[in-house]
Amino acid sequence: KMNTGIGQHLLKNPLVAQGIVDKTDIKPSDIVLEVGPGTGNLTVKILEKARKVIAVEMDPRMAAELSKRVQGKPEEKKLEILLGDCIKTDLPYFDVCISNTPYQISSPLVFKLLNQPRPPRTSVLMFQREFALRLLARPGDNLYCRLSVNVQLWAKVTHIMKVGRNNFRPPPNVESSVVRIEVKNPRPAVQFEEWDGLLRICFVRKNRTIAAGFKSSTVLAILEKNYKTWLSTQQNDGDEMMVEDGKGNNYLEVVKGLIDRVLTETEMGEKRAGKLDETDFLKLLYAFHSVGIHFA
Ligand code: SAM
Repeated sequence: KMNTGIGQHLLKNPLVAQGIVDKTDIKPSDIVLEVGPGTGNLTVKILEKARKVIAVEMDPRMAAELSKRVQGKPEEKKLEILLGDCIKTDLPYFDVCISNTPYQISSPLVFKLLNQPRPPRTSVLMFQREFALRLLARPGDNLYCRLSVNVQLWAKVTHIMKVGRNNFRPPPNVESSVVRIEVKNPRPAVQFEEWDGLLRICFVRKNRTIAAGFKSSTVLAILEKNYKTWLSTQQNDGDEMMVEDGKGNNYLEVVKGLIDRVLTETEMGEKRAGKLDETDFLKLLYAFHSVGIHFA
């Protein structure tokens, strides 16, 4: 009966459910998005505090149970249930997000929240402990990875509480943690694909030097292609950057030279990705852009 394939570990401990909602700082004027409400253990507590709850649930049986749970009650009018996959659904505006998140969508959900046209003021989300710790990890930590830097550029992440597996039915195999994610406002002035493109190169292996990541021929081929695209958008008035190699279109050596220059000038070449923070990567990205090297 229980479809664990889509992460249906219901939160059975009402104290934990109440704790999550209390830690969320919901205002009476707020619209709250709940991802994966299941049978509504969190939903009923959110409804007590919010103006409106939009609950996105993929499993029709769960949605039906939730709908039955509020039927005929005053809260019924405040609840809108959207049936479908939250990752694939275009979400309406919301002020706050709460979710006991199904594990499979942890990462896509975080990036979906970060990339909303008007991101929520705050999101309080339950994740597997290790995923939560990755979101929180700082340079030099064991769990520090591309996800950590990526999220920390766009948002402030705080640990709220640990939740043991026995608070769920059925109990999952691992412990969980609740974290708060507050998207930075204003947003850093960076295009997501450029930023993510740079991180992908640097984090192929986090203990390798940054310079080593730029030796890969696949990487160089992409950067060369992007460089040509970028050149074609620049005014062609015969400046030095337009120097060709004789055949007219092989810029590989030019690109290699520019990369060397950036890595030397920023003194990042010999550093290791696992030791750099979001500000370091931002500086590196701006330095690459200043010479015409692009990642997307
Ligand atoms: N919030 C409830 C609770 O805490 O008791 C249920 C949490 S359970 C871990 C996750 C819920 O998310 C399940 O009801 C599942 O059907 C739903 N779900 C899984 N993937 C989903 C998706 N992509 N979009 C929306 N709901 C999803």
